[in-house]
Amino acid sequence: AAADPAAGAAVKAADRAHVFHSWSAQGLIDPPAIAGAEGSYFWDYDGNRYLDFSSQLVNTNIGHQHPKVVAAIQEQAAKLCTLAPGFAVDVRSEAARLIAERTPGDLDKIFFTNGGAEAVENAVRMARLHTGRPKVLSAYRSYHGATAAAINLTGDPRRWPSDTASAGVVHFWGPFRYRSPFHAENEAQECERALAHLEQTIAFEGPQTIAAIILETVPGTAGIMVPPAGYLAGVREICDRHGIVFILDEVMAGFGRTGRWFAAEHFGVTPDLLTFAKGVNSGYVPLGGVAISAEIAATFDQRPYPGGLTYSGHPLACASAVATINAMAEERIVENADRIGETVIGPALREIAGRHPSVGEVRGMGVFWAVELVKDQETREPLVPYNASGAANAPMGEFAAACKRAGLWPFVNMNRTHVVPPCTVTEAEAKEGLAALDDALTAADAHTTG
Ligand code: PLP
Repeated sequence: AAADPAAGAAVKAADRAHVFHSWSAQGLIDPPAIAGAEGSYFWDYDGNRYLDFSSQLVNTNIGHQHPKVVAAIQEQAAKLCTLAPGFAVDVRSEAARLIAERTPGDLDKIFFTNGGAEAVENAVRMARLHTGRPKVLSAYRSYHGATAAAINLTGDPRRWPSDTASAGVVHFWGPFRYRSPFHAENEAQECERALAHLEQTIAFEGPQTIAAIILETVPGTAGIMVPPAGYLAGVREICDRHGIVFILDEVMAGFGRTGRWFAAEHFGVTPDLLTFAKGVNSGYVPLGGVAISAEIAATFDQRPYPGGLTYSGHPLACASAVATINAMAEERIVENADRIGETVIGPALREIAGRHPSVGEVRGMGVFWAVELVKDQETREPLVPYNASGAANAPMGEFAAACKRAGLWPFVNMNRTHVVPPCTVTEAEAKEGLAALDDALTAADAHTTG
């Protein structure tokens, strides 16, 4: 589309007039005005086009404006836009079937929500009612959403302003080899010590007080730390031994991101509850949910489940999920994510890491990769301090600005950039983005001291 800066300025002014933005000091932000998007790209009104290496908020797994999904939403809108959750609706049942067919093990009942945080809220409610126990354990390096229970479960600093003492949440350390909380010297040690730490946390909290352990299968926003072999199976065994519900949060890792429908497949582990959102329909219409095991579903066979949402299983959202899942299967989009990760992103990032003093580690799978930026490769001191803002965060700001000047929209969190393009990304697009990333890392190299 032709540049139209005047239109862009009007869109911005209208935004500033009445829109209140997430996570922001309203007087300090300047939200870019976006004119359109297609596939892996979006563009503004000034003639700038960006390759989206963030998939928005790691949700556009099929890219923007997939024609089959757009058509399905249009058809459903013409047929029936909305219906209360108490009715049986064809597209809702079909979405539930397609999801249940892909979730691991016996997770065969689907409770629909509007997004990830509500999925976490309801999974925790189910676990507490199923066990009759109050507490939930989660990892410090985690993000689970911004509603009451979900933000308390979250480990990152977004929790701090919303911490409430009564939430019944206990945090523990998950495995993270590069910054091992356990001073481990190898993966096997990291796994063994992380499990021993969890076991001890449970012993001191009192196993009979713990309803659930919730973990992101592969922690996302917190740094894409692929768990060591045996860790999730070990957590599964600990949960079974203590009668604790195991919840895997696949809001970010699910629906193709790791090169599998669900990341749990990589580890051969079946949780009792699995939360999803984002990639289920690439966010074309808000949708999330909980996949529920037969045993937990049975708890609510004769006893009412005390939770609901006006838009649970919304027909437009479900129609978009049906079209998304079918398109992903027909076009082998999950396989594409796996292949691009193995053959393009992984090798390129490892090669980039060898040339840039600011790159401490690269890690990931599928289209789910983290680049950890450091001041010094020996000491592993992060390029910016934990939760830095303002001048202290300038090195990451300069890196992000360099990416954007090169037409690449990066995902940046703390001292990391994540390479999380759509699962549909082509080899040529991935290479284009990785070349821009390579150049932009020179801005980060300038801040190294090693
Ligand atoms: N869980 C995980 C693992 C997430 O990454 C997110 C969002 O980034 C959420 C939950 C919350 O999802 P939502 O923002 O849709 O409420």
